[in-house]
Parts: sequence; C-alpha cells; structure tokens
Amino acid sequence: MSAVKTYNSLSEVKSDLLNGTLTLPELVGHYLDRIAEERHLNAFLEVFGDEAEAQAKTVQEKIMHGKAGKLAGMVIGIKDIICYKDHRITVGSRILENYTSIYSSTVVERILAEDAIIIGRLNCDEFAMGGSNENSYYGHVKNYADNTKVPGGSSGGSAVAVQAGLCLASLGTDTGGSVRQPAAFCGVVGLKPTYGRVSRYGVVAYASSLDQVGPITRSVEDAALILEVIAGADEYDSTASSKPVPAYSRGLASGGKKKLAYLVEALSSGGIDPEVKTMTEQAIQQLKEEGHTVEPVSFPYLEYVVPTYYILTMAEASSNLARYDGVHYGYRSPNATDLESTYKKSRSEGFGNEVKRRIMLGTFILSAGYYDAYYAKAQKVRKLIRQKTEEILNTYDFILMPTTPTPAFGIGEKIDDPVTMYLADIFTVQASLAGIPAISVPAGNNSSGLPLGLQFMGRRFGEGELLAFSEHFLELTKQKVIHH
Ligand code: GLN
Repeated sequence: MSAVKTYNSLSEVKSDLLNGTLTLPELVGHYLDRIAEERHLNAFLEVFGDEAEAQAKTVQEKIMHGKAGKLAGMVIGIKDIICYKDHRITVGSRILENYTSIYSSTVVERILAEDAIIIGRLNCDEFAMGGSNENSYYGHVKNYADNTKVPGGSSGGSAVAVQAGLCLASLGTDTGGSVRQPAAFCGVVGLKPTYGRVSRYGVVAYASSLDQVGPITRSVEDAALILEVIAGADEYDSTASSKPVPAYSRGLASGGKKKLAYLVEALSSGGIDPEVKTMTEQAIQQLKEEGHTVEPVSFPYLEYVVPTYYILTMAEASSNLARYDGVHYGYRSPNATDLESTYKKSRSEGFGNEVKRRIMLGTFILSAGYYDAYYAKAQKVRKLIRQKTEEILNTYDFILMPTTPTPAFGIGEKIDDPVTMYLADIFTVQASLAGIPAISVPAGNNSSGLPLGLQFMGRRFGEGELLAFSEHFLELTKQKVIHH
C-alpha cells in the first residue's frame, strides 16, 4: 500500500499540493499502484502510465509557478467511448478493437486545457448498451463493494475506478442512466447534464437525441467543477447549447427551502426493493424535518418510460451503427470474399449479442410497415412524458426518486433476460427522455453493505440549483465523505 491517502475532492488534493505534503508525481504514482493492486476489477482497459507521469511533472511545475488550470491535480479516467487523439478507443467492442482516435473529443480538449491528467480508458458496455457492464467484449467489471455484484453500466469501469480510488474522477456517458445507475451501485456521485449542455463531438454515438457526457466523482464539488469545464457551446456540435455556463463550483452554498415532488407510482411500483423504498422514505422525512416541502405527485406515464426509451434508442442505434461496415474502419472479417459478405461477416463477427439484438429491433422499428406503429408512436409518448415532467417542475424545484429499484445485482443474474435488465432502468430514463438534468448521490448502504443511490432531477439547464441542493443533501445526511 502506498502512503498517499484517499482523496475525496480536488480541493483536498490542492491543499496538500500547496502545503507541500503531496506532489503530483506522488499522487499519480499512488493511483498507478492502486490500479495495479485492483487489476482484477477490470475497470481500466488501458492505463496511460508514462504519459500520466510526464504530465504530472509538467502540471506540478505549472502549480509552482502559479500558472495551473482549474483541474490541476485532477487525475481522471475516461470511458472508452470518448475519443482522445492518438489513443486507442474500443467502445467495449470487438469491431473497434484496433482503432486509434484521429482527433480528440471536445470534452477531452477542455479537461486537458485545464490541466487534468488523463490516466487511462475505462471499461464499458459495448456501444454503451447495457446496465451491468456485462456486455463488454473485454470482460465484465466487478463492484468494489462486493466482487460478486455488477458495478452497473454502461459506465461501469468509470464508476468502479472512482469507487475503488483508482483515480479521483471519471467521465462517463448517460443515454438512459449510464452515469447515474453505476454511480448509485458504487456509492459515488454521477451527474447527467441537460441534453445539449455538453458537446457530444468526439463521443461515439449510441442514441444521439439522448446521449450526454457526465462526471462521476467522490464529491458534488468535483462534479460541479468538471461540468463547468466541459459544458458550453461548440462549433462542432450544433446541439450543444450556447447558454452561458455558470461557475457551478462556486454556487454550491446557495440554498433556501425547496419544493420537491416524488412520484407515487415509483414508490408503489412492484419491482422496488424494500430497503430502497425505506431509504427513499427516510430521505423524504429528513428533508421535511429540515423545512423543505416534499409532496407526492402522480406521474401516470411511469409504465411507458422504459418501452418508449428502448424503441427510440434502438431505432437511433440501428442508424448510428450502420457506419461499422467492415469497409470504412474497424474490424474486417478475414473470411469475407466479396462486398456483401464483407458487410455481413464483419458485422456478425464484430458486434456482440446485445448490440445485434438492438440493431435488428431498431431496423424493424424503422421499417416501412411498422414505423408509424412504433417509432412515430414512441415519439408522441416521449412528448407526453416530457410535457408532464415539465409540468411537475413548474410547481416543484426537483423531483426525487431512487436512482435504481434495487441495489447492485449479481454478476450473471440478469444477463439472459433482456427485458428484466431493461426494466431496471425504470427510474433513470424519464430524465433522459425529458432532456432534463439528473444526479445520483450516495444514500447509505443496505443491510448487506451495498451502496444505494438517491436521484434528484431538475429543470432544463438548472444544474446549478441541482448541484447546490445535492451538496446540501449530502451534508444533511452526513454522506459527504465516501468510505469504502
Ligand atoms: N441501460 C440503458 C441501456 O442499455 C442505458 C444505457 C446508457 O445510458 N448508455 O440503454
């Protein structure tokens, strides 16, 4: 074990860097040791050891000269779906096994410009399709709290790396819960920004009308700081909003009494684990005792959110993934003999089962005879879900929900039953369909020591209020320091 302590936020790191009890090369050395000690978790697909060590020296110099950026001292891992120039990227798939990014994503450019140190790329479900990280071609990831449990997905490696202290923070992506659900399963903080708050340029597409990059951290403070760096307009992504980016990290103290809604249908839904329900009821009680208003509201569309989400995402995925054809780039089958067999064999051999299932269903959903019955209908239902959610948020500041209906489940437990796996997304996909920001914060452990997560959803572009309230909640419930 190295002598460096476990840090929970960049401000803790910075204060030790400035008082001279820590140097950045020591910190990076510590994380590299931790990664080696915990190899069996399979969180990292590749470690950029030499580069991180070199960067640590450069940034240390900058700190000494008072010239360092906002993220100096932040050692960060990136989900293997985010392009980083001249580095490999696989998206958890065989089809991109030997692919190297030829440019960097906007989010990577922005964190590097503020002196973050990127320590490696993190395991994930293939093309971000999954909720357990069991769909990675490079093997499953283990939850650090209990190695027999999944870490959640699709950003499973990103959550475990932060949970196990292999880096301070990570970037994940969230289409229907992939940042929030693994954060909940691993007892860390995960934020999905408003759709359009963060550029998607250089992030491999799964379902473009929902995909967003978000931070996974050990503190709300770090989530705020990372968002502040990665958010904002981007000439390479027309869906990235040009709304000014507030200094989220400096607005965490603002508070006051808030009005929260919780969905009656969520707490009475059959699939909810009793301890998750109790945790949520206790949180409601604590918030009420603090003087906040917390009231039940009805959201009659809860049973439609999962089917709507899967119809739309499969349709978008089938279109986005058409580009992996064995011709342009990526895996090409050595058994192909002509153009058609190149397409067929490369895609059959290159994609895993879950990805193929979604491409086929998505193609069916978009086919001439069924488009109106499925795709057009799901678009209409999405609109109703968004309108009803916005209506609730006109009256209430936040919607409170458990992040997941159950704590982390066993590795292998749901993998043969896609429908059960999809239904586990019931509490996260609403915010995705509505395009609103949502955060998962640690809310204690269940009786077997598995982390539980509580979710707050806010108004479009209301990340500032959402983060400040989350910070307040963690102080109230004394979950501020993450112990594992
Ligand atoms: N579990 C969901 C899915 O499989 C969410 C994935 C994600 O957010 N990338 O689609």
